[in-house]
Amino acid sequence: MFCGNCGKKIPDDSMFCPDCGTPVKRVSSQSVQKAEAKNKNHKIVGIIAVGVLIVLILVVLFSIFGGGSNYEKKLVGEWYSEDNDDPEFIFYSDGTCEIDNWSGACKWNVVNDDQLKLTDIWGESRTSTIESIKNNCLTLRDGDRAAEYYKNGK
Ligand SMILES: [Zn+2]
Repeated sequence: MFCGNCGKKIPDDSMFCPDCGTPVKRVSSQSVQKAEAKNKNHKIVGIIAVGVLIVLILVVLFSIFGGGSNYEKKLVGEWYSEDNDDPEFIFYSDGTCEIDNWSGACKWNVVNDDQLKLTDIWGESRTSTIESIKNNCLTLRDGDRAAEYYKNGK
């Protein structure tokens, strides 16, 4: 016969399972097989749950760190040009920004993957190409003129 708790085969005259110590109930091998099948189902459900969890974690990580063309999160912060102690741009995560020579709160966003669009309080906008953001160095290009800015000072 088999132990009702752990399913191990035990001698027919046992009072307790020698393996787990459970008092013996007389169980047919059929119900032991059922118990094993149930355990198998639990394992499958567990594996699926772990898989779903891993996918969710990847989705969250991707949304935090973004894809290659997602510049917006990298742009949030203060950017300084090489020869100026005051920040040239301050980009806020709510889409507003401060720009050195423009008064008041301006708006910023990234359009067409790599175009930094700055809009002033009068609705005038200008667009620069984001050439790269590497090691906290932002390279902006206007036509054939490129400028570098450094995040939070050099
Ligand atoms: Zn047992």
